Amino acid sequence: MNESPAFRRAKILCTLGPASRDPEVFRALVEAGLDGVRVNFSHSSHDQATRAVELARNASRESGRAISVLADLQGPKIRVGTLDSPLEIEPGATYLAFPENESPGPVNPAGPVPIPTTYPELATDLGPGDRVLFDDGKIALSVREIRGNRVVLEALDGGTLSSGKGINLPGVEIGAPSLTDKDREDARLALDLGVDYIALSFVRRPDDLDELRELVDGRALLVAKIEMAQALRNLHGILANADGVMVARGDLGVELDFEEVPLVQKRILRLTSKTAKLGITATQMLESMIVSSRPTRAEASDVANALLDGTDAVMLSAETAIGDYPVESVSTMSRIISRIEREPGIDEEGQGSTRFRGLAPVHHTVAGAVAGAAAEATDRLGAPFLVTFTNSGFTAWVQSAQRLQVPILAVTDQPRTFSQLALSYGVVPLLLEGEASYDRMLETARVFAREHGLGAEGDSFVVTAGVPFHTPGTTNYMRIETL
Ligand code: PGA
Ligand code: MN
Repeated sequence: MNESPAFRRAKILCTLGPASRDPEVFRALVEAGLDGVRVNFSHSSHDQATRAVELARNASRESGRAISVLADLQGPKIRVGTLDSPLEIEPGATYLAFPENESPGPVNPAGPVPIPTTYPELATDLGPGDRVLFDDGKIALSVREIRGNRVVLEALDGGTLSSGKGINLPGVEIGAPSLTDKDREDARLALDLGVDYIALSFVRRPDDLDELRELVDGRALLVAKIEMAQALRNLHGILANADGVMVARGDLGVELDFEEVPLVQKRILRLTSKTAKLGITATQMLESMIVSSRPTRAEASDVANALLDGTDAVMLSAETAIGDYPVESVSTMSRIISRIEREPGIDEEGQGSTRFRGLAPVHHTVAGAVAGAAAEATDRLGAPFLVTFTNSGFTAWVQSAQRLQVPILAVTDQPRTFSQLALSYGVVPLLLEGEASYDRMLETARVFAREHGLGAEGDSFVVTAGVPFHTPGTTNYMRIETL
């Protein structure tokens, strides 16, 4: 099978940062196989976000390849406020968490040491015995007592705490609104920049997405980041209210015990595959490559397992944002994906097809029926690729959920659909300029297939579409063509 990045089926999403914002480095990332860019609003200024989108759009224009842009909103992340200097947390010692916009009050040298936090309602949400974790779970404390809007904490272990570190409250129902003022401003900028996806952090309930959906008003697709225990209890509803989800293993592994993460990942990705939603697996995938040019064997296995679990895309975080080896990280991921996808197919027993059967909600729709029939015909004909004509991208998503082992050439005349589809499993987006007709779309797919050596003259392939064109949600057409 062709190993060029255009025909990898699983996609690579790269977080941009100081290590990857240089145009030369970015070009190398695209050549190494980048399919999408994540702008992380927890760490990006508006100028940096604007530049990141420009880089992606320019590179896409130059290379002709679709590149998705995902804006990642910080959400109701709770943090330590500004400390005068890093604080040594001592096991057994007591601390007083207080709202950062208030004064700590008179400090009793024998009493608890004050720690400012960014979340004023902390004392309302917490009760005695709850756990409070600082700095990605590195320092654990337990709530001793609530004093008005302050919380007395006893350290369970020690460490150095510095300003701005994250705070997690595992299992606690947090009352903070799902969208902060900062998120609204960041989302407005992201929409002005024309991003393809907007992700929201710390989604807890399906309705956490409502305000964002209203703000976005169809201009981008929504990704819910699953990183709270509460979100897992509401997974079906959240998925129904989002276009995709991220298995955000960084915070998820702090909010839950880390040994829960592998099974949760499998559960989420089984569900995204079944419902034809986008699934992204994120965080620490090639963590050691922040400082090393090679991955650990365990990391290679982790990337491979995310694919076998059914992810659409695998994400790089610090590896490409601040690491020493951003380009090597992308080519490493690409190598692992290509190797797994060369394998004829692995199912739960370790063999068979990677096809997922029984696609629940989409399965029993006209679109699902056409996609299933197209997949079946592609299998029986041994067709080297499949072509879908798509306006909103929906036909391609449903076809992608069939997890075929051949590329889906998704021809569209919509620039937004073209760039959105860059993250979908198995989809090779092709942009048709000018007037869309069946013949012109077919010609676009044929030319691409010939140019890239996909199949031989005379090979049969399946075409699916919604007829008439430009009526969203009508995948109702299938035809067999020859190359
Ligand atoms: P973050 O999200 O990098 O924005 O925290 C991903 C995660 O928590 O895994
Ligand atoms: Mn997170």
